[in-house]
Amino acid sequence: MTKQSLLFCASEVYPFAKTGGLADVAYALPKELSKSYGVDVVLPLYQSIDRNKFGIKKLSQSCKIKLDGKTHIIELYATVMEGIGYIFVYTPVLCDREFLYGTPSSGYEDNHIRFALLNYAIVDLIRSSKYDIVHCNDWQTALVPLLLDQEKIDGIKTVFTIHNLAFQGIFSYQALQKIGISEKYFTMECLEFYGQINFMKAAICYADLVTTVSPSYAQEILTHEFGCGLEGYLTHYKEKLHGILNGLDIDFFTPKTDLFLSYPFETLTQKNLNKKEFLKKTSLKGIKKPLFVFVGRMTNQKGIELLIEVLEDLGNENCNVAILGDGNEYYTKELLNLTQKYKNIDCRFTYDEKLSHQLYASGDFFLMPSLFEPCGLTQMISMRYGAIAVVHSVGGLKDSVFDYKKFDTNSPKGYGIVFTQPTKEAFLDAITQAFDLYATKKEYNKIVKHNMNCDFSWEESAKLYINLYNQIKG
Ligand code: ADP
Repeated sequence: MTKQSLLFCASEVYPFAKTGGLADVAYALPKELSKSYGVDVVLPLYQSIDRNKFGIKKLSQSCKIKLDGKTHIIELYATVMEGIGYIFVYTPVLCDREFLYGTPSSGYEDNHIRFALLNYAIVDLIRSSKYDIVHCNDWQTALVPLLLDQEKIDGIKTVFTIHNLAFQGIFSYQALQKIGISEKYFTMECLEFYGQINFMKAAICYADLVTTVSPSYAQEILTHEFGCGLEGYLTHYKEKLHGILNGLDIDFFTPKTDLFLSYPFETLTQKNLNKKEFLKKTSLKGIKKPLFVFVGRMTNQKGIELLIEVLEDLGNENCNVAILGDGNEYYTKELLNLTQKYKNIDCRFTYDEKLSHQLYASGDFFLMPSLFEPCGLTQMISMRYGAIAVVHSVGGLKDSVFDYKKFDTNSPKGYGIVFTQPTKEAFLDAITQAFDLYATKKEYNKIVKHNMNCDFSWEESAKLYINLYNQIKG
């Protein structure tokens, strides 16, 4: 029997382009799904993608898309990696930019045109290739289900995954005409959102199924607190909304074989060599002191304000703190001030895949005080790399990090230190627990070893996606 075919659409995919967890998911999930489906992944061919390194070749297929009085020529490129066909969409407006979505201070002003072009190109691809399932992700590919309706392309089942409801693709009403979408879709039931247009809303309406990246987040987004204005709309569609926990690519995130580490490891003694090396590279001192690490985007979502508040206290404690992140300039300045004030705090403001792996491998604890967290991968990576996660129990963190006080050796769950209120007091209390746990070496080691052996792979979650695909096909 020939495999059914799936087109997975994303605006970033590791190792070609990555700003966050979406890229990790768009790399690892299709790989797992390819055991059951023939899978193509489509993404933009950003100027930063090295065509030679990845063997990316131009296809003969191309198309012209006329938007806002301009004709855009769309070229397609492709390569194959690990059994997956990667199809790249190239057009200068979309691809020839320094950043993917915008500068660190704001999104590009023509993002509606840029990503509408990507969506039209995907629809053109679907028209010529006939996939059984099209799986779109986040606002950048959210117009596809609506465009299939507008262009009257029948028989394609669509799934839309919300990776972060905080980014919905909201543009002014004037953008509607510029991106060639009929006025008939500008209704409260579809694209219209407080007088503007909302890409994500269109996908929630037109996709056959909507998923998000953890069961807890699927519940939370139905509430005023986490729904970002779409709670009522999502509640209306809750029958087709499902929460499936993300996984990790466990071939890539494996401490034993990680090529980014000088000391790939299996044991805690070997892990310690990474910590030693990392401390040497910085001005941090004291291998015996607990090392708290943070890796992530410097945004309000990640609880950076809470982190900055507790660093004032940690600066006087017998520990070290290492931070890696990029983004918001205000946070960067605040953190820089702290590094000047306290010798035990080290911050790097860049995006560096290798360094991030070194931090997971060196850390004793991983700090994750997120205010909201659709899923989060960094807590799983850190557990796999033997750092205990200290998390605000929200969204996917609730579903992946369980309170160490209820530790059970026989459970498949990962354990960490959890706090339920996003306040400085609660976070500091969790950090005090971390110090206490670290002091009871035996208990600490037991939990770390347990977490390192937990299954954070995609295997189970990919099966849930396949079940959903079968449901809509059937
Ligand atoms: P989000 O998608 O909200 O940014 P996730 O926890 O889902 O957060 O995924 C973040 C991914 O991006 C992880 O693979 C993490 O290691 C990586 N990452 C985040 N910030 C950096 C950085 N400054 N340097 C390197 N990798 C980073």
